[in-house]
Amino acid sequence: MKEAFSIELDFDACKACGYCLEACPKDVFDPGAAHNAKGYRPPVVARPDDCLGCRGCYMVCPDFCLEITRSV
Ligand code: SF4
Ligand code: SF4
Repeated sequence: MKEAFSIELDFDACKACGYCLEACPKDVFDPGAAHNAKGYRPPVVARPDDCLGCRGCYMVCPDFCLEITRSV
């Protein structure tokens, strides 16, 4: 069975730098449209089923907004 991962993005901590979009080898994130409390537009986790669990996004996020956990 393919491993599955859960991706949690702290919406209000994100500054929408876009580093996670650039780092993800599987294009899991899309640019977001909704503004958070700081006025930034965080990415959305659009394709969580494609996540490899590599933690590349977690490592590049300067604001510690991302948590990747194995869900299966
Ligand atoms: S790397 Fe972190 S702060 Fe930057 S857009 Fe992604 S979740 Fe937001
Ligand atoms: S853990 Fe890897 S594959 Fe999954 S969303 Fe982050 S960068 Fe993409």
